[in-house]
Amino acid sequence: MKSKNPEIMEEKNTVCVHAGTTFDSDFSGVNTPIYTSTASRYPNSAEQVWYPRYFNTPNQMAVAQKMARLENGEAALVFSSGMAAVSTTLLGLCRQGDHILFQDVIYGGTLHFVKHHLLSFGIDVDFFSDEKEVVTKIRPETKLIYIETPSNPLLGITNILAISRIAKEHGIISIIDSTFATPINQNPLDLNIDIVIHSGTKYLGGHSDLCCGVVVSSHSLIARITEMAKCLGGSLDANSCYLLERSLKTLAMRVKRHNENAQTIAEFLNRHPQIKKVYYPGLSGHPGHEIAKKQMPGGFGGMLAFELGKPGSVDMFLKKLKIVTPAVSLGGVESLICQPAQTSHASLPKVERMKLGITDELLRLSVGIEDVESLLSDLEQALLP
Ligand SMILES: *Cc1c(COP(=O)(O)O)cnc(C)c1O
Repeated sequence: MKSKNPEIMEEKNTVCVHAGTTFDSDFSGVNTPIYTSTASRYPNSAEQVWYPRYFNTPNQMAVAQKMARLENGEAALVFSSGMAAVSTTLLGLCRQGDHILFQDVIYGGTLHFVKHHLLSFGIDVDFFSDEKEVVTKIRPETKLIYIETPSNPLLGITNILAISRIAKEHGIISIIDSTFATPINQNPLDLNIDIVIHSGTKYLGGHSDLCCGVVVSSHSLIARITEMAKCLGGSLDANSCYLLERSLKTLAMRVKRHNENAQTIAEFLNRHPQIKKVYYPGLSGHPGHEIAKKQMPGGFGGMLAFELGKPGSVDMFLKKLKIVTPAVSLGGVESLICQPAQTSHASLPKVERMKLGITDELLRLSVGIEDVESLLSDLEQALLP
C-alpha cells in the first residue's frame, strides 16, 4: 500500500485525478483497491490498527487525502453524510456553556440541529446577517463562528475574509459550509477560515447516488473532531468511499461545466420577459458579485434561483419541463429544479418566508452538465405563455 507523491501536483484536474490514490501493490492495478475488512491482522505493516469507525481505513484515507489536497488543508475526515460532518464538528469543538455564532441563512438541517439539539446540550447560539453584526454579538464564551456561502436558496454571498479576520482577532474558530462552491470554485482555508465542511452528497459525489460529507482543516483541529467522530460513529463505508474517490476524479471538469451552463442560463433568464428576478452571483447585478469575484476564483457555481413573473404559474411551468427535473437535491450531473416555498422552506410561515425573499414564485435550479442548448430550449418552451 503506497500513495502517490502529492507534492508535485498543483493544478485542480491533476489533483482530482491523482491525489490520495493508494497503489495496489499486490496486483499492480492503477486504482485504489476497495478494502472492506473490518478487522486487520496484527501486527500489521501500518502503524495503527485500522477500523471503519476510527476513520482510518485505506479507502477513507485515500479520499480524505484527495479532499485535503483539493482544499489546501492538512487533513480531512470523510463522513456518512453532510449532517454527520456538521453535527460531529460542532459537538467535537463545543462544551456546555460555550456560545456559537451562526450566519442567519444556513442549510435547513443545520438550523434544525442548532435550534432543537445544540441548545438542549447547554450550548448557546446567536445569529448574524453580516460581518458588521457578528462583531456586536461576540461574547467571552464564543467558541465558533459558522458561515455558509453561497447560501441556499438565494445565493447570498458572505465576505469570507472579513469573517475570518474577525474570528482570528478574537481567537475564535471559524467554520464554513462550502457545499455550493465546491473546492474547485472556492478554497476558504486560503482565506484563513479554520474548517471547511462539504455535503459530499451534492457536487463531490455529483451523480445523485451517494450520501456523504467531508471536513477539511489542520491536523490539530481534525484530531479534536476525530475524537468526537469515533464516538458518534458517522463514518463512510469502503464501497461508498471508493465511489466518492471515483467521482472526485471528474470534479474539476464537472464543476467547470456547471459554472459555464449556470452563467449562460442566468443571463438568458435575466433578459427573459416572463422572469421577474434572477439570483446568481455571476451576474453583475447580484449584490454579492464583487466579493464573489474575489473569493470564488474558480467560478460562481452551478446553483441559481429565479422568480417567475406571473403569480400561480409555477405548477404549469414545472409540468411543461422535459429535461430539467423537479426534485429537491442538487449538485448532480442532471439539472434539478425545486420550489423552496413548497420544499426546503415549507415549514416556515408565509410572512417569514416573504421576509427572506422566498416567494411562491421562486424556483431554485441546480444546473447540470447537459448541453446548454437543450437546457435553454427546455426552459424557453416551458416559459411560453
Ligand atoms: C445537503 C446539504 C447539507 C447536508 O448534507 P447531507 O449530505 O444531506 O447530510 C448541508 N449543507 C448544505 C449547504 C447542503 O446543501
